[in-house]
Amino acid sequence: MKFNTIIEPFRIKAVEPIRRTTREERKRALEEAGFNLFLLRAEDVLIDLLTDSGTGAMSSAQWAGMMRGDESYAGARSFYRFEETVQEITGLKHILPTHQGRAAERILARCVLKEGDIVPNNTHFDTTRANIESAGATALDIPIAEGRKPDSLHPFKGNIDLDALERVLCEDSERVPLVFITVTNNSGGGQPVSMANIRAASELCRAFDVPLFLDACRFAENAWFIKTREEGYADYSPREIAREMFAYAQGATMSAKKDGMSNIGGFLALDDDDMARCCKNELILTEGFPTYGGLAGYDLEALAVGFEEALDEDYLRYRARSVGYLGDRLVEMGVPIVRPPGGHAIYIDAKQMLNHIPQSEYPAWALSLVLYLEGGVRSVEIGSVMFGMSPDGTERPAEMELVRLAFPRRVYTQSHVDYLVEVLEYVHSIREKIRGMRIVEAPTVLRHFSARLEPVGGTLIDGG
Ligand SMILES: *Cc1c(COP(=O)(O)O)cnc(C)c1O
Repeated sequence: MKFNTIIEPFRIKAVEPIRRTTREERKRALEEAGFNLFLLRAEDVLIDLLTDSGTGAMSSAQWAGMMRGDESYAGARSFYRFEETVQEITGLKHILPTHQGRAAERILARCVLKEGDIVPNNTHFDTTRANIESAGATALDIPIAEGRKPDSLHPFKGNIDLDALERVLCEDSERVPLVFITVTNNSGGGQPVSMANIRAASELCRAFDVPLFLDACRFAENAWFIKTREEGYADYSPREIAREMFAYAQGATMSAKKDGMSNIGGFLALDDDDMARCCKNELILTEGFPTYGGLAGYDLEALAVGFEEALDEDYLRYRARSVGYLGDRLVEMGVPIVRPPGGHAIYIDAKQMLNHIPQSEYPAWALSLVLYLEGGVRSVEIGSVMFGMSPDGTERPAEMELVRLAFPRRVYTQSHVDYLVEVLEYVHSIREKIRGMRIVEAPTVLRHFSARLEPVGGTLIDGG
């Protein structure tokens, strides 16, 4: 290639205005929201990086697919198109559509978990952990040691710790009904898992006759990192790589709001006939008939197209580059981030950036509030508000205090990213004035979604 600029590989056909607010307005909005960014009105946000889940832009081909949607209750054409696409990519036999990822997790937990079980994973996502714990089982996080060190440069920091996995299987395999690997490792910084690691984990699981499941939300981004970072994969297409990743698994849960490139949807895929029977019954009980599973026919069409588009090389190259670009600029400015940048988000290491705030005062939560106050940018805390409560209700500090800036797919352009760089540069310059937070009220499960907080010292930033 003669030219090096990696461009957005699309042009824009429909636009959605975003609204500027004043700092005064944002200050008031924060107070009304109990200092919880989840409780803001989205129209008060300028650049919304809360999540990459369901927030992407669909393509013209997906919108055209929606018009083809077959809304038959049973046996809809759209289901078969969806099923065929997912079977082709995953090689798995039974494909159960669900309204989103956590429904697939809940159904699986209901059919395979019992009290006292242990589920190892590189790192459980919050909904996965909650579904496992609500079945009375233990969600065991065993990432490799590098995965817990924000600044260690390892190409596959999402890898599961194979020694730890072997240990738990040796000691307790009858209590382990399945093993998960999350690709990419969202809660661990959006970090990829290598093919070698998935293969080795699957061999261990097979030796103990325990099924391996992929939490496959970002399977296409993971395939891209394997292609660009793992020896021997440069000449394979993302689709071929994805196919090999799934070949090592006996099942998968998926939030199609991520690499399904759609605003809603998910699936549970599995090979085992008995397990599938139980899961289908659960699906009927809470989601819907197995050929729509909580989705409209048009959603299934959009998803069938979306899974293919997520594996497009030009798209994946642009996707990885737009996240990497922000990462490079932040590293230049001395903002501590999880390195190397992951696939869907930049994670700022708030424990290091705000090292004057004790972990018990939620430094990452405070930083995310300041990014909104100063720049109208919404991010999300992945730290002790999200993960700092044990099932028995006691506080436990999280492994890391991160602020995640997640990129919706095909939504923002480079000038939005340049604006973000400016906001972060300013916030970094005033970091010593940022103060900690305390929780005023919070539920015991998934408390970050609805907790209300207040600044420990009365104001978020010294001097207001
Ligand atoms: C988003 C996500 C889920 C849950 O999916 P929902 O669609 O939000 O229910 C599970 N695991 C991972 C890794 C995720 O990123």
